[in-house]
Amino acid sequence: MYDLINPATGEVFRSIEMTTADGVDAAVARAKAAFPAWRDLAPADRARLLRRFADLVEEHREELARTEVENAGHTIGNARWEAGNVRDVLTYYAAAPERLFGRQIPVAGGLDLTIAEPLGVVGVIVPWNFPMPIAAWGFAPALAAGNTVVLKPAETTPLTALRLAELGLAAGLPEGVLQVVPGFGPEAGARLVEHPDVRKIVFTGSSAVGRAIMARCADRVKRVTLELGGKSPNIVFADADLDKAAAAAPYGVFDNAGQDCCARTRIYVEASVYDAFLERFLDACRGVVIGDLLDEKTEMGPLISAAQKARVASFVDAVPEQDIAFRGEVPDNGGFWYPPTVVTGAAPDAAIQCEEVFGPVVTVTPFGSEAEAVAAANGTEYGLSGSIWTRDLSRALRVSKAVQSGNLSVNSNSSVRYSTPFGGFKQSGLGRELGPDALAAFTETKNVFIAL
Ligand code: NAD
Repeated sequence: MYDLINPATGEVFRSIEMTTADGVDAAVARAKAAFPAWRDLAPADRARLLRRFADLVEEHREELARTEVENAGHTIGNARWEAGNVRDVLTYYAAAPERLFGRQIPVAGGLDLTIAEPLGVVGVIVPWNFPMPIAAWGFAPALAAGNTVVLKPAETTPLTALRLAELGLAAGLPEGVLQVVPGFGPEAGARLVEHPDVRKIVFTGSSAVGRAIMARCADRVKRVTLELGGKSPNIVFADADLDKAAAAAPYGVFDNAGQDCCARTRIYVEASVYDAFLERFLDACRGVVIGDLLDEKTEMGPLISAAQKARVASFVDAVPEQDIAFRGEVPDNGGFWYPPTVVTGAAPDAAIQCEEVFGPVVTVTPFGSEAEAVAAANGTEYGLSGSIWTRDLSRALRVSKAVQSGNLSVNSNSSVRYSTPFGGFKQSGLGRELGPDALAAFTETKNVFIAL
């Protein structure tokens, strides 16, 4: 049995059984057996089941959200959004089964057709930071395209994934089509990666584990989508709406206590407005509401675990005290709280500027020219998200083209919309989730030539 700990209190609230490698094998066997019938189901019926699944998620939205508050330490507002995102992702992909079009390509001597075929059993491995949405970004398009899914949630946060699988069954998904196997990464996760009957792995998590999984998948040329770490820049030009940029910046990094792969953890501000921005930004940081997770006004909660808290602290402890421009107040109750922290004066090669901290910690650094800002933004091995604040449209487009990142937003800190592609450049990942791109990631193109 594995103890689940409420991050806001540090107390065990439940224990669950972990799936062994044998248990994973059994789940994969069930998924393999369920695949042909699911693949061959009338597209309209697959669509109807996914819509019903979405409806059940909506009906149970509050229950799912409250489970996530207890299990992952999310604020109730965020957790409600996350459950709503699962509903939206299911609804969006419910339209797909009837629209998985192939092509007819002009060729000499016959007729040429392409068919988008499902892969078979797909393994989805999910981290603890957004357990519900990230699970759905994997299973919804996979199921819509006719695959069956075995999903392994993170050890610490399995409860909402388990509940979603129950809701899927209640919606009418046949046995074996969507299964959840809570388990440890090196045992249950590794078995899913190695299993010869798993045709594809969708992995979201750290870059280190992602690299190892990609290497293992190479043995069988197993398909893989990787969503890995980030160190996203937030670039504020002098012509930006400074009030807006500064007011939004705390939420671009302290949301989910910074445990967000898209967190805007490096703020770069044009030197001529640096002081003006910093003053407004620190004011906004002071306003972040931290505490009771079930209070709708609360904006930031605890970290996931004692280990994560120690890791975040190790980055900040290496910073000279005079470079800490702000440190917030957090409850002192045995939970894994870490104060929102603003660091100035960090060198470009400091660990806090280059490595993913995955906590409520942000650096603020001045820049001179546009070229300098772009070079700084591109100065890490990551390339997941980023923001550009400016009123100059040409500059917004120029910088968007120059920053090596999969998801950029101009005058906004948002990264995720269920209908648009999401994924990383460089070591932030491989492939895209969400939007139409995810369907391509869960199908294989078959070309058929018919001689006439
Ligand atoms: P992690 O890599 O430790 O674990 C992720 C998942 O992989 C867990 O389910 C874990 O059990 C499993 N796992 C661990 N070792 C494994 C192995 N050897 N074989 C198979 N599975 C294994 O990551 P984490 O600490 O849970 O999550 C935080 C990381 O996730 C951060 O780096 C964050 O940036 C990243 N992340 C990326 C995205 C994105 O979309 N790019 C989204 C969210 C989180």
